Amino acid sequence: MSTFGRAAPPHSPAARLRRHHRKYDGFEMDINKPRYTPMSRRRRIYEGKAKVLYEGPEPGTLIQHFKDDATAFNAKKHEVIEGKGVLNNRICEYLFQHLNNIGVPTHFIKRLNMREQLIREVEIIPLEVVVRNVAAGSLSQRLGMEEGTQLPRSIIEFYYKNDQLGDPMVSEEHITAFGWATPQEIDDVMALAIRVNDFLSGLFLGVGIRLVDFKMETGRLWENDLMRIVVADEISPDSCRLWDIKSSEKLDKDRFRRDLGGLVEAYSEVARRLGIMSEGERPHGHGPVLVKG
Ligand code: C5P
Repeated sequence: MSTFGRAAPPHSPAARLRRHHRKYDGFEMDINKPRYTPMSRRRRIYEGKAKVLYEGPEPGTLIQHFKDDATAFNAKKHEVIEGKGVLNNRICEYLFQHLNNIGVPTHFIKRLNMREQLIREVEIIPLEVVVRNVAAGSLSQRLGMEEGTQLPRSIIEFYYKNDQLGDPMVSEEHITAFGWATPQEIDDVMALAIRVNDFLSGLFLGVGIRLVDFKMETGRLWENDLMRIVVADEISPDSCRLWDIKSSEKLDKDRFRRDLGGLVEAYSEVARRLGIMSEGERPHGHGPVLVKG
């Protein structure tokens, strides 16, 4: 006879089983609430330094989860900064949605909740594409150029995505010789990078921010037998250098890299200027919150 549906004595096998299920689930199920697959039950596809990818609800989709972890110098420096993941999710949504709207394809489909977005599964091209408008960071170090010097034109650089090697800078020769991308794909990636740079430069200029440089990644999106290259991963203050136009104050991850403090305040300011987060809204969301519509 089944013991479910009526109270079982506290030490009975049925009561133990229920306690076990409750512990395993981590929450009490409410059938009136929308179903949300708990993170512990989802198939994890990949875990990076600041994000986790889970299997998505449909074939060809993934869920991209933004963590609060901040890393720099190839993960030698690591901290958890509460609220960073929520802000990056919102800012990335805003930028990718606008890029999609103007016909620059990205992997972004929609934001699901405070920390997660639904994305298309792509085959990542193992390159970090850096676009620079102003000298800063590794370019300044490498070429002895003062930070803040306007470059004669936008410069595109490629880095091979490989943590063990510390993401070394590579040329088109390396990329084609080692088969990471074809010459045609490099042309497509560069065309995308230029469009993203033009769009983001204008967007940020409009809210008093100078886009000094940024990093983007790309992936191959297969639709039947057709393949096109789309912007993937994320674009957020973690992957851009954003300086206030008037004060040159840094509103990006250099606040963490250079121990300047105030990272969440800086990212919140970027979100506020873009009209994403209203005055006083706090980014400290822990649990997923469903987005309506
Ligand atoms: O360090 P560097 O000057 O080469 O960085 C150029 C740009 O690329 C910066 O905006 C930085 O935030 C971004 N970047 C990144 N991820 C890396 C390396 C650089 O987002 N692994």
